[in-house]
Amino acid sequence: MYVAKMTIGGRAVPGATTFEVKNPSTGQVIGTAPNASNTDLDSAVSAAQKAFASWSRQSDDELQAACLAVAAKINAHSDELATLITLEQGKPLNGLGSRWEMGGAGAWANYTSGLSLPMKVLQDNGQGRVELHRKPLGVVGSITPWNFPVMIAIWHILPALRTGNTVVLKPSPFTPLATLRMVELFNEVLPTGVINCVTGDDHLGGIGAAMAAHPGIRKIVFTGSCATGRKVMQSAATTMKRLTLELGGNDAGIVLPDCDPKAIAEGLFWGSFINNGQTCAAMKRLYVHESIHDDVCENLVAFAKSVPMGDGMSEQNMLGPVQNRMQFDKVASLVTDARKKGELLLGGEVGDGLFFPATIIAGLKNGDALVDDEQFGPALPVIRYRDVEEAIKAANDSQNGLGGSVWSRDIEHAKHVAGRMECGSVWINKHGAIQPNAPFGGTKSSGFGVEFAEEGQQEYTAQQVIFS
Ligand code: NAD
Repeated sequence: MYVAKMTIGGRAVPGATTFEVKNPSTGQVIGTAPNASNTDLDSAVSAAQKAFASWSRQSDDELQAACLAVAAKINAHSDELATLITLEQGKPLNGLGSRWEMGGAGAWANYTSGLSLPMKVLQDNGQGRVELHRKPLGVVGSITPWNFPVMIAIWHILPALRTGNTVVLKPSPFTPLATLRMVELFNEVLPTGVINCVTGDDHLGGIGAAMAAHPGIRKIVFTGSCATGRKVMQSAATTMKRLTLELGGNDAGIVLPDCDPKAIAEGLFWGSFINNGQTCAAMKRLYVHESIHDDVCENLVAFAKSVPMGDGMSEQNMLGPVQNRMQFDKVASLVTDARKKGELLLGGEVGDGLFFPATIIAGLKNGDALVDDEQFGPALPVIRYRDVEEAIKAANDSQNGLGGSVWSRDIEHAKHVAGRMECGSVWINKHGAIQPNAPFGGTKSSGFGVEFAEEGQQEYTAQQVIFS
């Protein structure tokens, strides 16, 4: 049993009560995490405020060196953290699983450590000199989901620290263990109070809601569902907090008629089923031209059948269980409805525990729940289309606008279609391939603000113009 503690002002804090964390592959309790009280949250915010006074005055080189030390900790403890992720999240160690997540966390941490936001001279002439400076905001509150617990925390923490802010982090109650351990490790190389971690079981909105309303926190970076994102935005209004909201997606993929169905099957599968579909920018609707529709379905199903699913601790498995019962029931109910309206090509029948087989259902259209709603699980609807205008219109007929993809041998034509899609990122002949040097974020109800690259870094700063 793993008994995790919070880190507040450099101290290990057990919390007055705890909650259980279960392994979704086995249903067994693998550890406990503390329930933070409002007093614990106040202490974490005070510690971060106190640390901000000196951390925000570090030179650019000092901040870079400290962030590189954090990145080194991630890399040195990568196996330990990957094991914790697999145990609490369910994704396999292997494939695009927890070792891959840790690889991403290390890569993002290294890249972000090297990003500076130097002062810009806007004018320097006889009329005077105008300088644009970027200043840290203060205490940043980071709230993370359960699908990529460590990598998403790194996406929040590193740009915040690198630009001179201090942090209070709160992971999802489904996956708190790897994050708590990671913050413990970071405290071995960072000054007291620079990063703090609090956890809670989400009872009555819980500690996340208290963070969004806390007057000592200057910005919230939130990754999670659209529904919770709206609540965060509402409670942030009273204290005028800065926000970055990375919310849900319902990404469409459009397969143009010139594709080779066999050649794209593997890319389509992993673009959709990465982490069992529990990925914000996974492909959640697939529009295929009628001339190759059946061939694409056949090849996709054949590839899907070759991917082993099971307990993530076993090296042979490439897909694990759905992370929690609530999500499992949501996917099951969408699939039950879709089976009545379309044609089941693969999966559909639930297995043991939280294992839900990769499911592909054709014959669906916009207006069917599996097409319109974010399933966030291993069930892909395939929609047949006749002309590309119809596919673009259907792809854009969504409240979400996170990502999208176009599949074609004609890259220029694919780019033209990409430009007409209403979303923050569009990939050609792949889906969801984010990288640390390109800004990533949603349009419409998928949120606002971006992460990564210089544009993402800027969101952790206030601009100050000095005229002399
Ligand atoms: P969620 O919204 O249920 O929870 C996210 C976090 O918010 C958790 O830490 C939770 O404890 C906390 N929370 C709960 N109630 C709160 C409140 N009232 N105020 C503040 N915080 C509160 O989301 P989830 O189920 O953990 O994650 C799945 C969702 O996240 C999906 O919709 C997915 O698309 C989205 N997501 C988006 C991105 C992205 O980059 N756009 C990335 C990953 C996941």
